[in-house]
Amino acid sequence: MQKEKLYGKTLNELLAVTKRVSLPGFAAKQITDWLYKKEIQAIDEMTNLSKKMREVLSNDYEIGLSVPVSFSTSSDGTKKYLFRVLEHKFIETAYIPDDDRATICVSSQSGCKMGCIFCMTGKQGFQGNLSSNEILNQFRSLPEFRQLTNMVYMGMGEPLDNITEVLKSLEILTSDWGYGWSPTRITVSTVGILNSIREFLEKSRCHLAISLHSPFDEERRKLMPIQRTNTVREVLDIIRNFDFNNQRRISFEYILFEGLNDSPLHIRELARILNRIKCRINLIRFHPVPGSSFRSPDEKAILDFREALNGKGILTTIRSSRGVDIQAACGLLSTLEQNKA
Ligand code: SF4
Repeated sequence: MQKEKLYGKTLNELLAVTKRVSLPGFAAKQITDWLYKKEIQAIDEMTNLSKKMREVLSNDYEIGLSVPVSFSTSSDGTKKYLFRVLEHKFIETAYIPDDDRATICVSSQSGCKMGCIFCMTGKQGFQGNLSSNEILNQFRSLPEFRQLTNMVYMGMGEPLDNITEVLKSLEILTSDWGYGWSPTRITVSTVGILNSIREFLEKSRCHLAISLHSPFDEERRKLMPIQRTNTVREVLDIIRNFDFNNQRRISFEYILFEGLNDSPLHIRELARILNRIKCRINLIRFHPVPGSSFRSPDEKAILDFREALNGKGILTTIRSSRGVDIQAACGLLSTLEQNKA
């Protein structure tokens, strides 16, 4: 029988575990210390639990960590790791060092249902939600784990389509009994699932990034099917009506596609729809994926687009392209591996 994994469980879930195996309630807090502060690999290392308690726990549970199956290193220091999940499926995790920051980009699903037409993960279809264990294992089992300063949920999958497990992982990352990270070190990205955005904003204090890619309804619908049922206008209404504190950041991700969403009309419309929202726009260069005819505008056009938005009073930055020589576009590496398998 497969044992249940302890790593990735919240304090409340661990309380339920201790109850189930008739351990005293205080053992739950001790287990969180071992899992999230002392970095053990086996239940037997929980030395402040009696030998008998450890035996009882080991009958049905294991820690549940798994190392990456492979990795590639880019000439710019970015690394892409592949983890095996859900029997013969692979997910990607990126490690992105940058001066005094080191960011991990985690996946939240295997494949994705959202079907954005420029995305390789979207082309894989949906294979399953990752558990909080599988989300956090990418963080904990990363060889550079101790150097990490920031975390983004921008890998494979739509995090808010797996909101329960994503919220659990955020609780573990930001609670005092967990890793104790500040929520301002974590950004969750979404295409804009209305109900889940509300829940995310209420239940977490982490930053939110919205994948925008076009300010025009019809155009965005062609790029991102989510726009058919969850429009950007509705997303912006939620954001306008939410009481943000100064610490929490809203950003909009905007992949530039040459000749499609990079015109002065787009700049004007972006400025109009984002009016009165304190936010920033991150411009992203498009990394080609097989079977796609999209292209990134040239460097000058990207810089001009940024300047024009800054001129309209919207803080706009260009995300540096990282890991271009190791299949930077999310979903490419795992697709190759799955095809091999
Ligand atoms: S861009 Fe994100 S939400 Fe869209 S298909 Fe790809 S992984 Fe899914």
